[in-house]
Amino acid sequence: MVHYLDNAATTPVRASAVARMVPLLTEGYGNPSGAHRMAREANRVLDDAREVMAGVLGAEPGQIVFTAGGTEADNLAVRGVLATRGGLAVCSAVEHHAVLDPVARTGGRVVPVGTDGRIDLEALEASLDGSVSLVSVMLANNETGVIQPLAEVVELVRRKAPRALIHTDAVQALSWVDVAELAADVDLISVSAHKFGGPKGTGVLVVRDRVELEPLFLGGGQERARRGGTQNVAGIAAMAVAAAETVAERPTAVPRVAALRDRLADGLRDALDGVVESGVPGRDRSHKTANICHLCFEGIESEALLFLLEQENVMASAASSCASGAIDPSHVLLAMGFDRDLAFGSLRLSLGYGTTADDVAVALAVVPVAVSRLREKGS
Ligand code: PLP
Repeated sequence: MVHYLDNAATTPVRASAVARMVPLLTEGYGNPSGAHRMAREANRVLDDAREVMAGVLGAEPGQIVFTAGGTEADNLAVRGVLATRGGLAVCSAVEHHAVLDPVARTGGRVVPVGTDGRIDLEALEASLDGSVSLVSVMLANNETGVIQPLAEVVELVRRKAPRALIHTDAVQALSWVDVAELAADVDLISVSAHKFGGPKGTGVLVVRDRVELEPLFLGGGQERARRGGTQNVAGIAAMAVAAAETVAERPTAVPRVAALRDRLADGLRDALDGVVESGVPGRDRSHKTANICHLCFEGIESEALLFLLEQENVMASAASSCASGAIDPSHVLLAMGFDRDLAFGSLRLSLGYGTTADDVAVALAVVPVAVSRLREKGS
């Protein structure tokens, strides 16, 4: 039996989302841009999904732009804004590469974070001037689960660079915090269905009415000419079902998962010496999402640890899944001041709506043995 503790990489698709999706692939498969009845029905499916996603994200239906996932939503936000307004983008040093790379490539400014993983507000203030047209700060980090002080960021940007638009990458946030409330005052919001029980390759960029955006893709003028390309109707409908279920479950899921995560993180820290929990100086995890247990073990390399865990059917990851396998240590950990050796020994165990007490018990039994074995071998 597999113990899947890699929900920050992706989640299993909810049964309700699959049930919604299948008939739209086999029967309701009309092209929503067409003129006949099947096309109109497909378009109605999009309208319904747009309304649900708008409700979940605190937006108007017309502000929802369907994308092929989080990477596209992030790129559309950064590149789309810079293309219409010129100027510079500013982002935090712990952004996902889908934000960090477009910002860096366009000569933007990268703002440091503290050892707790939160953006340095003084450095952010210093980076803001009249040349800044976009500030992008994520809601929750994909490696550490650290939640950024978005309200303070918004207040600062509105005061210091009133011309700038604000984007937040909320891809890791929807299951664990109220995105609608926390991102109510930002101009652009990215989410991705496969992080909350929807299918891969489907996401949303919220684009408030005041935002002018140059599309990444030109074509049939879909999504009010903000994103050309025939929409993934079945995927989008499934995303809406998954999002609604996620938000309805959140009040019970968050305390349940947080308790499991705390048991896991505390248990591993008690069982082993030489463990550093990222962004958690004591044991206070209140500024982290409920689902992520992120630890660095002295004297080991995560690659070897992941191999041993996999042999025990525990699926985990070292950092973000996109970066694992790469030789460089995580840019997130380096930005938080970890030294390189310790950053090479990182382990992210990420829980999800399907995680059970048994999954946690198995990880608690397996991880200390694996770490000790690697330390004895001097790996
Ligand atoms: N942003 C964050 C914070 C993520 O964690 C991810 C995925 O890992 C992405 C963006 C990219 O999303 P997608 O996999 O839907 O392209």
